[in-house]
Amino acid sequence: CGVVGVYRNKNIEVAKMVYYGLHSLQHRGQESAGIATTDGLHTHFHKDMGLVQDIFKDGIFEEKLKGHIGIGHVRYSTTGESYVANAQPLVVKYRRGSIGLAHNGNLVNAALLRERLEDDGIVFQTTIDSEVIVNLIARFSNEGMVYAIERTMELIRGAYALVVLTEDQLIGVRDPHGLRPLCLGKMEDGYVLASESCALDVLGAEFVRDIEPGEIVTINEEGYQIKKIEKQVKKASCIFEYIYFARPDSIIDGVGVYQARMNAGRILAKEHPADVDMVIAVPDTSIPAAIGYAEASGIPFGEGFIKNRYIGRTFIQPDQSLREAAVRLKLNPLKQNIEGKRIVMIDDSIVRGTTSKKIVNSLKKAGAKEVHVRISSPPVSHSCYYGIDTPDRNQLIGAVKTVEQIRKLIEADSLGYISLEGLIASVGLDNDSFCHACFSGSYPIDVSSMQGNVITS
Ligand code: 5GP
Ligand code: SF4
Repeated sequence: CGVVGVYRNKNIEVAKMVYYGLHSLQHRGQESAGIATTDGLHTHFHKDMGLVQDIFKDGIFEEKLKGHIGIGHVRYSTTGESYVANAQPLVVKYRRGSIGLAHNGNLVNAALLRERLEDDGIVFQTTIDSEVIVNLIARFSNEGMVYAIERTMELIRGAYALVVLTEDQLIGVRDPHGLRPLCLGKMEDGYVLASESCALDVLGAEFVRDIEPGEIVTINEEGYQIKKIEKQVKKASCIFEYIYFARPDSIIDGVGVYQARMNAGRILAKEHPADVDMVIAVPDTSIPAAIGYAEASGIPFGEGFIKNRYIGRTFIQPDQSLREAAVRLKLNPLKQNIEGKRIVMIDDSIVRGTTSKKIVNSLKKAGAKEVHVRISSPPVSHSCYYGIDTPDRNQLIGAVKTVEQIRKLIEADSLGYISLEGLIASVGLDNDSFCHACFSGSYPIDVSSMQGNVITS
């Protein structure tokens, strides 16, 4: 998912900015989207299933979404079914007013907390873990929002980047491990919080800084204040953001996503060279890695596929048969460029194996002499419980098959994955500061209560 929050001086409308912000985060989720705003007295919201551009029609901003503070959310589901009641932001009324909340990430103890709240007589309207968070915040709100959020953070475990809206402030929160990203930007007449810095660029906001793990940033009339919760844990930001999830023009925790992907390609070329005529990418995510591979190997980079730009990310389609059709629709080999050539094809990851098998096959049909596959992440061998929709372990091809078995299955002439060390080096931050559980099985937050649970997608 993706979140954005905008605070502007009184009487300056904010909804359109939230809308543009959401547009720039659309790659983080395409199932539903929503915006909530406040004019200081009333909180308004609009949300629906579908893409940002289809949900917010002209007129809605002026008629419905009034106010100078707003938050927005784009969703792809990891917990909770895909229907409109589960769309965010969530807006609840409590005794002091309203709270709006948009959440990126996944809690690992939501079921337990929910049971306890239900025992206390709380009723839930959705099946998402984020509703647990908003309930807890409302419950602890007697002594102010920051206090309420701190108390809530003591109870919830898992991944969360939150933007919270009240009648007079915008609050951003990043979980103590920093699993999901969140950054702060400044505009002439206010502030922006967003999952990725590309949203700040789009809104013309100047990057101030990343919200650090365990920080709560409060934005109101007086500017912004940052408080760090006392409990310190080791930073473990999601390395998958760099590989696949984030937009290449974003900078997360000081590292440019484009550069990280290019570095991964360079390292991949050293770790798994190939004697071929051309390097191609599976567009768009893998283009920087393929350029890096070409640069380091001296083999020319060329276009191998034409991508239909009107189709969303295939992985994000929750249903397997839809996903397969979408792969076929989405990528067509550029026959004129690949016929008779030996090709190395770079992709960012193999999850179920659906994509690789189809596209290796289509390259061969289009006349490629050899197709060597190189992957700029290690085999995905464990499920993610922190907000990236990797399927159950038994559907992860990297968990159930060896590299050679996978190579045979996708019918590639050779197959090479970057090593975990290589991947970490490509991002260039301190080795210890990442979550890479989906490759290593080393989970920064205990997930034993989740294992065996089917995560609905
Ligand atoms: P597969 O077809 O093997 O299941 O998925 C691999 C393809 O889906 C890759 O080409 C990659 O671009 C995309 N993809 C890989 N991992 C993820 C992920 O965690 N989330 C999303 N949304 N897409 C992914
Ligand atoms: Fe990211 Fe993988 Fe960790 Fe999930 S398990 S947070 S996808 S690195």
